[in-house]
Amino acid sequence: MSWYAPRHLDEVLALFAKRPDLIPIAGGTDVMVGREAHAGGHEYLSLANVAGLRGIRETPAGVAIGALTTMTEIGHHPVVCQNLPALAASARATGAVAIQNRATLGGNIMNASPAADNPPVLLAYGASVVLMSATGSRRVSYERFHSGYKETVRLPGEILREILVPLPPPQARHFFRKVGTRRAQAISKIGLAALLAGRPGAWECVRFGFASVAATPILAQALSAAIIGGTHGLPGDKELAEALRRDMTARDDIRSTAEYRRRVAMNLVREALAPWRDEGGLDASD
Ligand SMILES: Cc1cc2nc3c(=O)[nH]c(=O)nc-3n(C[C@H](O)[C@H](O)[C@H](O)COP(=O)(O)OP(=O)(O)OC[C@H]3O[C@@H](n4cnc5c(N)ncnc54)[C@H](O)[C@@H]3O)c2cc1C
Repeated sequence: MSWYAPRHLDEVLALFAKRPDLIPIAGGTDVMVGREAHAGGHEYLSLANVAGLRGIRETPAGVAIGALTTMTEIGHHPVVCQNLPALAASARATGAVAIQNRATLGGNIMNASPAADNPPVLLAYGASVVLMSATGSRRVSYERFHSGYKETVRLPGEILREILVPLPPPQARHFFRKVGTRRAQAISKIGLAALLAGRPGAWECVRFGFASVAATPILAQALSAAIIGGTHGLPGDKELAEALRRDMTARDDIRSTAEYRRRVAMNLVREALAPWRDEGGLDASD
């Protein structure tokens, strides 16, 4: 197995421009599991030594997270815990502690599994990602990043540099639930993240990101439209379920059935919306 491990970002980008066939590797927790599938002389480009790709910083618009930042760092960082609690929760729900110490947010996104835990949260938070190559960088809305099953809009020679998450509105409800067969080390049967602020007829923000309900992580747009359109309170369960049906394209697979996912998705949406059903939702922080 050949392995390149430059120390500086410009060396990484120059090498990747010449050798776009190299497989980038961050924490290696997906790449190493899939190594057998790469048999046939693939070579690897380690990003692990590039300090400039790590870390969490506050910006005027929100929080910037380097692609190589680990789940452990994200799950316990005060800036994330305070401003983006759903992301702290999803990082702490990824695998178990040993995995979290190596697994990076960039790797979780770039692996592009529809079942990954952190993408739904980034969709709910309205994140964007910065892709970089030897010729420059570009910012892509995360909603447009996953182009098909395990596919992204990343071009040859580009790496993911950082993830930008805008500050949520104050008083928003930050919601994350993962449903799996165990509390740790389980791939989700279904996952939901939501960011909700405002009230029926005057919503500021209604965003639901799902895992394991389609070929990619999805932003549930029909569901949001149904809720925003309900000027006299929340839509009834029938209308919400109908909207969800339009967003979800889940099929039966080894972890679950489409029917189970539809039912549990509806239960999770009801749970996310509970403060607005029960108490009017004016003080809905979670
Ligand atoms: C036992 C076990 C349990 C797990 N449990 C979970 C779980 O509960 N939830 C979950 O979501 N995932 C889980 N995973 C999957 C994995 O740990 C995560 O997806 C992790 O975040 C991947 O990060 P990494 O840094 O290890 O990525 P790597 O394995 O290094 O890379 C993953 C992919 O991203 C590419 N890549 C990485 N960084 C970049 C970059 N900066 N730019 C361009 N391409 C890049 C690589 O080429 C590769 O295609 C588990 C894995 C294992 C082995």
